[in-house]
Amino acid sequence: MSLSIATKTRPKTRSIARSRRIGATERRSVWARELERWKSRTRAIAREDYQHPLDRASTEALKTLPFVEDVVRRAIAPELESALALEQTSTSVLVGVEQLPKYDKMMRECAGVLGIPMPRLYIKQNPSPNAFTLAVRGKEPIVVVHTSLIELLDDDELKAVLAHEMGHLACDHGVWLSVAQVLGIGVEFPGVPFFVRRQFEERLLEWSRSAEYSCDRAALVCVREPRVVASALMKLAGGSPKLANELSVEAFLAQARAYESSLARASPLNQYIDRARTSALTHPLPVARAKEIDEWSRSSEFEAIRKRLSANDN
Ligand SMILES: [Zn+2]
Repeated sequence: MSLSIATKTRPKTRSIARSRRIGATERRSVWARELERWKSRTRAIAREDYQHPLDRASTEALKTLPFVEDVVRRAIAPELESALALEQTSTSVLVGVEQLPKYDKMMRECAGVLGIPMPRLYIKQNPSPNAFTLAVRGKEPIVVVHTSLIELLDDDELKAVLAHEMGHLACDHGVWLSVAQVLGIGVEFPGVPFFVRRQFEERLLEWSRSAEYSCDRAALVCVREPRVVASALMKLAGGSPKLANELSVEAFLAQARAYESSLARASPLNQYIDRARTSALTHPLPVARAKEIDEWSRSSEFEAIRKRLSANDN
């Protein structure tokens, strides 16, 4: 769910602009090519069928900055991807058919539905309930889940989280997630004025929030049950293993609707403060995500996907 990457790892990317010469434009990553190959072989649900319109629009807006994408893919990505893959291999548990096969099976099921090659899944000891994805060059896409998240969620909710993370891969979000991570760890771009960087960061945050909506939809496509996705979001907002059996998804969705109507009635100043607060976030508000997925679950788009999935089952 999160974009955050452990900040202990600081790839050597300080002099990005000088470290490598950027060659001819290479728009399509290894991952994107692999994705197309898999799609043509499977009956998977294509990302075009569930990608949120805000995600599509803000991704197009980011692509008007091709230089940034090239820098990341060719200069930053090799360092970042290798460093993070090495970190996970040395500090986490790698899931596979011989290691925690239940989670390996969940990953395979989601990868099949979304039509992507199987990424590696690592489970990491961490008290902060979180999961994240990394795939820039597409050679070693990885998903990392913290142990506390496994303790917080039931199996269906955890599958929704895994599907959400793989949604980032299916939607080819990797390169821009990496830009966000690089900016998040304070890398300086020599010669880039502060206001230009600020403007880019704002655009990136907007993209990041809209990308989350697509991945929540990917989660719903894989688990097919909106209550499961909403419940995972609720627990991430305020759950604990002790409260798990007492929480109500319906009450949380009612809370989401109440927030929206309260905001609509709020004074212009309060609305401004709320916008300022949310525009600085990497993720949409949990209540907004729960409401969004609940509404999309009743859309004709999702109904068509559900029918295709049912046909695939038979
Ligand atoms: Zn996410």
